[in-house]
Amino acid sequence: MLSGDIIKTVVSSELIANCRRLIAIINLKIFTSKSALSEFLNELREQKKSIGFVPTMGALHEGHLSLIDIARRQSDVVVCSIFVNPTQFNDPADLEKYPRPVDADIEKLTGANVDVLFLPSVNEMYEPGESWHLDLGYLENVLEGKFRPGHYQGVTQVVKKFFDIVEPDVSFFGQKDFQQVLILRSMVKMLNMPVKLVMCPIKREDDGLALSSRNIHLSSTERHNALALSASLNNAKAHFHEKGLDDLKSEAIAFLSASEGVELDYFEIYDAETLQPASSKDVDSIVALVAAKVGETRLIDNILLK
Ligand code: AMP
Repeated sequence: MLSGDIIKTVVSSELIANCRRLIAIINLKIFTSKSALSEFLNELREQKKSIGFVPTMGALHEGHLSLIDIARRQSDVVVCSIFVNPTQFNDPADLEKYPRPVDADIEKLTGANVDVLFLPSVNEMYEPGESWHLDLGYLENVLEGKFRPGHYQGVTQVVKKFFDIVEPDVSFFGQKDFQQVLILRSMVKMLNMPVKLVMCPIKREDDGLALSSRNIHLSSTERHNALALSASLNNAKAHFHEKGLDDLKSEAIAFLSASEGVELDYFEIYDAETLQPASSKDVDSIVALVAAKVGETRLIDNILLK
């Protein structure tokens, strides 16, 4: 090819890429008001468009983008929300330091061809002094619920509000927050909400670390230490068929307790449908779940063993 042709090709492919970005920016509708969003989505519903919804707290990474990608393939319109929900934080310092890179997030959503971003303020989502809760029973008080009292009340409050506003056909959540998915399934069933929930696989770095918005708080040493979490899960999975559940659990706890810079909250092997301790391998599905503090950063991870 002649050099002029190469330049032409480069220029035109750059031009096409820029045009695509511009079209995507124009196409991303951003709403901060729930009534305006609801009105906009009602029109799309009248046109028989299916609505897929991906709620997030922002600081978007490939994990979030994988949910959006799955939503894109299963729905006509993809709505994403970014809202750092104060009611699900039991530690004010954790809420304060939660990353909020909104401009970078908008760029990522644009690149992912999201149709609608809902970006409400706290006042738009909550009335002053608002306080109500759902009885979530057993699921609310184990694992994350035990270590973060009130967390799932906050999660269900905000997701219930989002579902009422967006009225999605399908909503997409990550397996990364396994207990959250079970709690939301239970809420949807309890309140008879007309939405299907899809649980999407965990996105990991090449070395196994589960992607999380909190990973940016890890120093390079802490990031290295954090690999103990996924290593413990992978080890349990690798030996699932040859060892008993008690041995798998105690070996993981011994490994994590001896891991440099890791302060273990829990490592449990539970029935993946009920989150009751799995007493035998003779159930449909089994999940191993881990939570630990690495430095000041609390991380969670899990793996399906069966
Ligand atoms: P968050 O912004 O942390 O509230 O997460 C928003 C959604 O992204 C939740 O459904 C999470 O489970 C999901 N998510 C977070 N991290 C990952 C990951 N590494 N892989 C897949 N989904 C994820």
